Amino acid sequence: MDLHSTQEIWSTLKYLPFAVLLHDTQSQTFQANTQTQTLFDLNTNSQLTENDFNHLTLINPLSKIIFSIKSLFNDYLLPHTSNQILIEKQGNTFLLNVRLAHFNESLSMLVFELVKNNVNEEYNFDKVISSISTDLIDIQIDDIDKHIDYALKAIGTVANADRSYLFRFNKNNTKMSNTHEWVNEGILPFKDTLQDVPKSALPYFFSLMNDTYLFRVNDTSTLPKAALSEQIEFEQQEIKSVLCIGLRYEKELVGFIGCDSVKELREWTDLDLIRLKLVGEILTNAFKNIDYRKKLELAQRQLITANKKLNELANTDGLTNIANRRSFDRALKNEIRRCVRNQHPIALIICDIDFFKHYNDNYGHQQGDEALKIVASTLNKLCNRQGDLAARYGGEEFVIILPATDAKQCKAFTALIQKEIETLNIEHHYSNIAKRLTVSMGFYALIPNTKTLPEDLISNADSALYNAKKTGRNKASEFISE
Ligand code: GH3
Ligand code: MG
Ligand code: MG
Repeated sequence: MDLHSTQEIWSTLKYLPFAVLLHDTQSQTFQANTQTQTLFDLNTNSQLTENDFNHLTLINPLSKIIFSIKSLFNDYLLPHTSNQILIEKQGNTFLLNVRLAHFNESLSMLVFELVKNNVNEEYNFDKVISSISTDLIDIQIDDIDKHIDYALKAIGTVANADRSYLFRFNKNNTKMSNTHEWVNEGILPFKDTLQDVPKSALPYFFSLMNDTYLFRVNDTSTLPKAALSEQIEFEQQEIKSVLCIGLRYEKELVGFIGCDSVKELREWTDLDLIRLKLVGEILTNAFKNIDYRKKLELAQRQLITANKKLNELANTDGLTNIANRRSFDRALKNEIRRCVRNQHPIALIICDIDFFKHYNDNYGHQQGDEALKIVASTLNKLCNRQGDLAARYGGEEFVIILPATDAKQCKAFTALIQKEIETLNIEHHYSNIAKRLTVSMGFYALIPNTKTLPEDLISNADSALYNAKKTGRNKASEFISE
């Protein structure tokens, strides 16, 4: 086709009341009418080349594939059907309807119609929502508020609302509180005044909410008579249009999220509804997660407490409540090691009640138990330095570990025990040596080395005890190595 006839066609086409772009594949040139020039920020040159479109990015809205202006005339579009493309220009994205018409094998025309100015918001919303829902899967309890605020802002912005909010009900389901709120610029927040509001104050709202989990009103002035309280409330908050979605937790309504339009009437679209529902579901899932996590943490805490208790039990003597043999064995090993490291002496006392068989036989086993408890707690109280340990060794025998204690200090300690037991003054008329309960002790103190064994300390202290028993009882004997 010659230039002349192209110009002739163009002289008519350019006056069409929509954005038109003509392309001549032979001369590789384009012509744009004023609408197209404005839409795409094009030079007003009558003849345009491909380079004049370099500032635009053309995107297929479904596949997100980027294509060139030329391919728009060739393989991207089907002739005579409406197609959509996204055009990105200086950070703004527009959604356009496009129609293609071929005049002949070299001349084609595109007609554009703007569907949506700046669809960035929409894409941000998708991004925001997907990032929130991902974050909320692994939500920490402290973080939830930030995410709710973020989600409310996203839904408020994309739905072009003036206010968006979350309400939750109290435990017995009688009151509601506005826990989170987002407001557009220049819009009054109401969160602080909407705390612990009785649900009965909004009967119409809740009759719908309970049935359909939805409250969608485009014009609050057209509400029926039954919605008088709601109307008063909406007037107070200057709400012209309102859209709320119920939040369900195990089939029960636990709250709702919503959007208000204050400045002007809004016709809520199905897309608004779907988006609000999506945010609602994400939040409900997050609440479920948190609830589950709280329960898990509680169970864990209970388990830890039970474990601690079990450990205590395993290391404590059931009758006297002081350390048992098991915990004595471990402590002795550790304390010897520590004293080896610090070059400190260590002392061990074995303490045995005198004529306890007679005590039991005459006062009864139960009273014998009581006496054991008193003696145990007396010994335990005396062990108040770090590392000191009194344990029940078996029957009516006790052991005492005294780290960083030499023979002289240990002897003084046994004297203290003797005195304390005397002060207890537990009657024992069947003892052969006194009218009250007495104890005999054997002790052994040494500066341990790496070869020192716990058994050596025990057997030496035990042999000193045997000596104390043999030489009169109610006394302490030291083991002296030859
Ligand atoms: P000795 O002065 O030589 O130590 O004489 P003893 O009678 O104290 O010693 P013996 O070993 O003959 O008897 C220890 C008694 O301690 C035997 C038992 O009746 C009593 N006994 C051991 N364990 C318990 C206990 O758990 N409760 C009570 N009530 N008595 C116990
Ligand atoms: Mg004994
Ligand atoms: Mg005894």
